[in-house]
Amino acid sequence: MSTTTLNKKNGNHSSQLENLLEIKNLKTYYPVKGGFFKHTVGHVKAVDNISFEIKKGETLGLVGESGCGKSTAGRTILRLIKPTEGQILFDGKDITNISGKHLREIRKDMQMVFQDPYASLNPMQMVGDIIAEPIYNFMKKSKEELKREVMDLLEKVGLPPDAYYKYGHEFSGGQRQRIGIARALALRPKLIIADEPVSALDVSVQSQVLNLLKDLQKEFDLTFLFIAHDLSVVKHMSDRIGVMYLGNMVEIADKDSLYAEPLHPYTKALISAIPSPDPRQKKERIILTGDVPSPINPPSGCPFHPRCPMAMEECSKTKPVLREVKPSHRVACHLY
Ligand code: SF4
Repeated sequence: MSTTTLNKKNGNHSSQLENLLEIKNLKTYYPVKGGFFKHTVGHVKAVDNISFEIKKGETLGLVGESGCGKSTAGRTILRLIKPTEGQILFDGKDITNISGKHLREIRKDMQMVFQDPYASLNPMQMVGDIIAEPIYNFMKKSKEELKREVMDLLEKVGLPPDAYYKYGHEFSGGQRQRIGIARALALRPKLIIADEPVSALDVSVQSQVLNLLKDLQKEFDLTFLFIAHDLSVVKHMSDRIGVMYLGNMVEIADKDSLYAEPLHPYTKALISAIPSPDPRQKKERIILTGDVPSPINPPSGCPFHPRCPMAMEECSKTKPVLREVKPSHRVACHLY
């Protein structure tokens, strides 16, 4: 998406050119313990050296099969998980190693919307208290101000005022996700990381929640990292899209460029699996053989080479680097 379009979409100007988030060579490895003394015998390379940036007001979609490391990447960026290596720059500040009150302070500006709206709400708390909690923890507000803010948030996410006095189990999945969104918005964050926010919902309510997120993005001047496995959902939401495979970023491009001309063989296979809106239009589907290899012992060279229909000799020896092959279109593949 061009800067002009991005500015029009969000209704503001020069600040849109700045990066809100910059991720440099990020790695998140989990130790694997083994043997009688439970020594570290290896590592799960959940995120293995990814770099990207998100501009203010933009939505970057992160896609890939389950287990590709996209959720771990999101949680590492939020600093819910400690990064093993690399750098996370948020709004110009290096937050890679901050802790204590500095981390607490930065959390106000970065919030998460979780996949499972059933599990993410405390069943013992009234909805009003769930949404009020972050405001209460971070800001000094009178009881009346707090209640007014919560009522305002309920209205913004399309819930009636009496939702304040109810409990999570009294709502449908879509309504619970609206409560989760209201809670995420309570501190007026700059960045929202939405991790599969609609995948637990009925198809009939998915688009309502997605459209709500889009409307709130404009109203609250939000930047999104939108994580999902469903490429149609990601297409609907994103300005740019990054494709992950086995902890690696294999392609990243503007949405239109990625869908019109995917370059990486893995992206081509994912896109070929999206059903065509016109059933008369025949699409050639690329079926991938084999399973995703283990991130404990990833393949040498290109991580995709055991499943790649285009693999060459070089692919099992040298790992391709993510590099720009067209304006705003980067790919990690020896074919380019
Ligand atoms: Fe396929 Fe080789 Fe490209 Fe990897 S580097 S995606 S194995 S062609």
